[in-house]
Amino acid sequence: MSYSDFSKNQLLDELASLKAKYTDYVGRGLSLDMSRGKPCTEQLDISSGLLNVLSCDDQCVSAQGFDCRNYGILDGIPAAKELMSGMLQVKPEQVFVGGNSSLNMMFDTIACMMTAPIAEGCEPWFNVKDRKFLCPVPGYDRHFAITEYFGFEMITVPMTESGPDMDIVESLVASDASIKGIWCVPKYSNPTGITFSDDTVRRFANLKPAAKDFRIMWDNAYCIHDVSDVTDTLISLMDECEKAGNPDLPIIFSSTSKVTFPGAGIAAMGTSENNMKIFKKRYTTQTIGSDKLNMIRHLLFFKDFDGLKAHMLKHKAILKPRFDVVADKFSQYLADKGIANWTNPRGGYFVSIDVYPGTAKAVEKMCKAAGLTLTSVGATYPCGNDPEDKNIRIAPSYPTVEELSLAMDVFCTCVCICAIEKILEQ
Ligand code: PLP
Repeated sequence: MSYSDFSKNQLLDELASLKAKYTDYVGRGLSLDMSRGKPCTEQLDISSGLLNVLSCDDQCVSAQGFDCRNYGILDGIPAAKELMSGMLQVKPEQVFVGGNSSLNMMFDTIACMMTAPIAEGCEPWFNVKDRKFLCPVPGYDRHFAITEYFGFEMITVPMTESGPDMDIVESLVASDASIKGIWCVPKYSNPTGITFSDDTVRRFANLKPAAKDFRIMWDNAYCIHDVSDVTDTLISLMDECEKAGNPDLPIIFSSTSKVTFPGAGIAAMGTSENNMKIFKKRYTTQTIGSDKLNMIRHLLFFKDFDGLKAHMLKHKAILKPRFDVVADKFSQYLADKGIANWTNPRGGYFVSIDVYPGTAKAVEKMCKAAGLTLTSVGATYPCGNDPEDKNIRIAPSYPTVEELSLAMDVFCTCVCICAIEKILEQ
């Protein structure tokens, strides 16, 4: 029964019983941290083989005869480009294999376009006074932080079940030349877990931006990260852009951070020849090359892209029960109450929930007081400002199933308490 159908007395009774439960949770002295999407220890353990797969000098020589223990090869060894091309959905020759972090590559890419024009006849973005960036919301806080750092005005675009609202994206991009780009997590998005539909990807590929130097920052971080037996598929943005005659629009990123070890994986970028020329010019100045031994380690461990995908089945076996707990608890506590909407992702690292408007911060505070740390409320919006104070990102990967189950009990109890208090206040 929906809380809106409760009488005032029924609401007060429900509140009293929920508060008694909450007091019990507080008394248990819990300490649960669900603030970030970190793999759990079990997930790290399945990649331990990576630590000793490289054991002799002979293995350090690439197929082309290059000694990878030495300086050289700015954009990564060919076999690593081949491996990463599967994640990026581009051709191996369009790949630049970088260091240990795709976020770092995204930062460098924006930094590069701040100082060097990415398209002929354009200004470096640093010279564009009122530069703007589109930010689908809810989205990934660290993307927003990069464009905040570089002084962009961030324009929010609502996410739908098939990706960002493309009517809004098309009309903004076509009408305003100071809009220079958009952030996207196209598969198992952070935090909603939705995957962009074929139609959305094609509409992206066929954008007609007023700015010749508009670029799509396509962060395919969760490209092979299924957590369900029914999986989503994402068509290749690069293929569609090439068909549409817009090959320079996308800059595509991914990494093995959530495949092997976060912060010690390999990251890569895929883009057109024109864009790559500009980025390589900067990278040549910035570095002599990335860690090729780590590339070799990953190649020995996985062999090829099929090996990588097979490894992801082990992650799925660990993560699926956690996502199931979240889905079960949400439906147990919140279904039919009319106070929250949430996603049931088939992959990725997060679940997004919209609690009763105006209560997300209060929920966060109550959870904290009971020993449960959530992702900072507001983080899923640029500058940490969720105008309706309702979105919360749930990161189920790190706690054990038992811890998560208890954490969801605490969380859902707080969601209900804060909703009732708000309804009574209104
Ligand atoms: N992109 C998204 C969407 C993420 O959620 C994360 C980490 O949570 C990253 C990038 C970070 O990737 P990396 O470790 O390769 O920098």
